[in-house]
Amino acid sequence: MDQIECVVIGAGVVGLAIARALAARGREVIVLEAAEAIGTSTSSRNSEVIHAGLYYPRGSLKATLCVRGREMLYEYCASHNVTHARCGKLLVATAANQIPQLEAIRARGKENGVFDLTRISGSEALALEPALECVAAVYSPQTGIVDSHQLMLALQGDAERDGAVIALKSPVESIDALGSGFTVRTGGAAPIDIRATCVINSAGLYATKLAKRIRGLDARHVPPFYLARGNYFSVSGRVPFSRLIYPMPNDAGLGVHLTLDLGGQARFGPDVEWIDAVDYDVDPRRADSFYAQIRTYWPALPDGALQPAYAGIRPKLSGPGEPAADFMIQGAASHGVRGLVNLFGIESPGLTASLAIAQRVCEMASFD
Ligand SMILES: Cc1cc2nc3c(=O)[nH]c(=O)nc-3n(C[C@H](O)[C@H](O)[C@H](O)COP(=O)(O)OP(=O)(O)OC[C@H]3O[C@@H](n4cnc5c(N)ncnc54)[C@H](O)[C@@H]3O)c2cc1C
Repeated sequence: MDQIECVVIGAGVVGLAIARALAARGREVIVLEAAEAIGTSTSSRNSEVIHAGLYYPRGSLKATLCVRGREMLYEYCASHNVTHARCGKLLVATAANQIPQLEAIRARGKENGVFDLTRISGSEALALEPALECVAAVYSPQTGIVDSHQLMLALQGDAERDGAVIALKSPVESIDALGSGFTVRTGGAAPIDIRATCVINSAGLYATKLAKRIRGLDARHVPPFYLARGNYFSVSGRVPFSRLIYPMPNDAGLGVHLTLDLGGQARFGPDVEWIDAVDYDVDPRRADSFYAQIRTYWPALPDGALQPAYAGIRPKLSGPGEPAADFMIQGAASHGVRGLVNLFGIESPGLTASLAIAQRVCEMASFD
């Protein structure tokens, strides 16, 4: 049976960042990935926004890891030639009754350490983005966009340079934590058993399902789990905006916003659609609700402009109507299994926070 110090399960942006950080600290690492390539799940089905850290409750993991991770990510992208742009974002109030909410988000951002947010009037916002309609806005200069696939390739390259191995087509089926250390069993065409002293469960949408298959982990440490699809629509041709535009968040999410990719192409979304099973099909009938929401801040959106684009699925720890849950990163102090770290509910801003999450996991992992 193969023996290794550390198994990381999942080669999404978070698993790769963790593998890189562990390998850089001299740990022996294998990443077991079920798919045929890295980053085919949530890490390639998102908005690719580098979030500033405005929305999350003070002191939450989402707030602290987003703000720290954002700075780490900008430095990493600059030093590793990962394409990115600090394009800025406007958070807009489209009616006077939204101004208190706008102010509350600005105050929350400040509490989280985002000190450079500027409150501007509707006409100042219009001077920046002439196609926009709003009564007031907050400008966030630290918000940006990143090429998430380039980022993952860079993380993989660093990890492999420091000795980590990425094993594709290696779905983990079960983990035995009953003795000392772990036996990790993979399925696929060439099933193997691996002995490890440390296991990091970074399986994204499947992390809770996998945790239920860890013999030796009490089931009460596995949280309830929900799936919320985020659908995107694209617009053919250029849109008359150069910054990201976000309406006020609502109960379900951040609101249908405008983001740009690094080629300048616009996409709108994601909305929130609760689903029972992983399914990435975008229902074209959702366009009606997109038109209505987008026209609150871009009234000139032409009829027929929106096309169904793609969808991503959020691994949610709270269900419909419940307050948004924080990231859950569980080590032995919470579940009692030495050497095991489970990552649950790594939804947005997980891409932004990935390097900070990796740092935290390294601090929590134990190797004896
Ligand atoms: C619609 C949407 C928009 C988002 N927008 C943003 C944004 O703009 N900015 C931002 O910061 N964040 C954003 N996020 C969040 C961000 O995309 C995620 O937090 C991040 O990609 C999670 O990465 P991950 O590595 O944890 O998960 P994943 O990318 O899902 O990777 C998990 C990997 O584990 C593998 N796996 C699963 N089960 C097994 C198994 N049994 N054995 C082996 N491998 C397994 C999967 O194949 C997958 O490759 C968004 C998320 C969504 C859904």
